[in-house]
Amino acid sequence: MCAVPIGPQHSHLADIQDHRLLCTCRSCYLLFTDGGASHGHYRSVPDRYRANAGFALSAAQWDAMGIPVNLAFLFYQSDQGRYVAFYPSPGGATESLLDLTAWNEVVAGDPQLQELLPDVEAVLLRRLDGGFECHLVPIDACYELVGIVRQYWEGFAGGEDVWRRIDEFFAGVQERGRG
Ligand SMILES: [Zn+2]
Repeated sequence: MCAVPIGPQHSHLADIQDHRLLCTCRSCYLLFTDGGASHGHYRSVPDRYRANAGFALSAAQWDAMGIPVNLAFLFYQSDQGRYVAFYPSPGGATESLLDLTAWNEVVAGDPQLQELLPDVEAVLLRRLDGGFECHLVPIDACYELVGIVRQYWEGFAGGEDVWRRIDEFFAGVQERGRG
């Protein structure tokens, strides 16, 4: 964003128009926290993590989203005026065709999902035996997960190493959601 050097721990801005994340220094980050400074071009990615214990999704609704792995994230993309769904794959974040009807029904019945900020916060889902783990997270956390999958996935099923790292990632997300 600017020429100030930043460390490995830093904030991010979402570029709403170009659909990408920018690494920022703290001053730049604070410029865009209200979303108004750039007429909506940039928005600071907030730092709040929340567990969504009341989340309900049926196996049929999940299947309708066409996600081939047990991980996904969804967020409201304001310039498209709709939710988009992505899943991590060895090739990076892959967009899925989303059955909007099914997902909009899920959102309509879940007050916590309705509090999600467009473009910068996401619903992170992990399918488990008999249900779903659901977290409301900053969008950059989803791309951290994408990075783990991209870097460590091996073969068809990913291999032990990547799933251990994914478990660690979700344990960290859970911890932050409690804090
Ligand atoms: Zn800066």
